[in-house]
Amino acid sequence: MNISVKIPVLLAAFSVLAFGPTGLHASERNLDAHEHGVSTLRLAQEDKILQFELEAPGEDIVGFEHAAENDQQKLAVENALSQLQKPEAIFILPDDAECTASDQHAEFETEEDHAGFHVTWTMTCEEPVNATSMEVRFFSIFQRAEEIEVEAIGNAGQAAMEVEKDQTNVDLSQAIGG
Ligand SMILES: [Zn+2]
Repeated sequence: MNISVKIPVLLAAFSVLAFGPTGLHASERNLDAHEHGVSTLRLAQEDKILQFELEAPGEDIVGFEHAAENDQQKLAVENALSQLQKPEAIFILPDDAECTASDQHAEFETEEDHAGFHVTWTMTCEEPVNATSMEVRFFSIFQRAEEIEVEAIGNAGQAAMEVEKDQTNVDLSQAIGG
């Protein structure tokens, strides 16, 4: 995958996300644009509301990119979805931000040559000023994953970060604020 194609796709999806919840299922998303090993996490804050969207290549999560073809693959997809349906336990905001998760949605999407997991969720935080860091358990759960490209926009500004496999914490202070 060449990066000159990938960046406009990410930016298009991100700008839609940033401007409202209706963008979460935007048709701009394209599985062909993903890079194996690299997931994307977009985060948009509007005061107490933090909306998240995660896209992860099927390769990174279950090791294949097609519809499940046998019991073992069906089980792998089911297991992944059951974990991704609790994304707030994978990307954990600090206790003192007092956040509550809602609207969790996870699905496995397949296209001709690629497949991926698409996860959306909302965190409502009573003290968003404290939501300036996030614990990441993604890599310990999904050990094929290598990197997450994080894009965040919020009361404190915008930030784009690459979170590598050995990182367990993300600094959101450039984007998220009270
Ligand atoms: Zn792929």
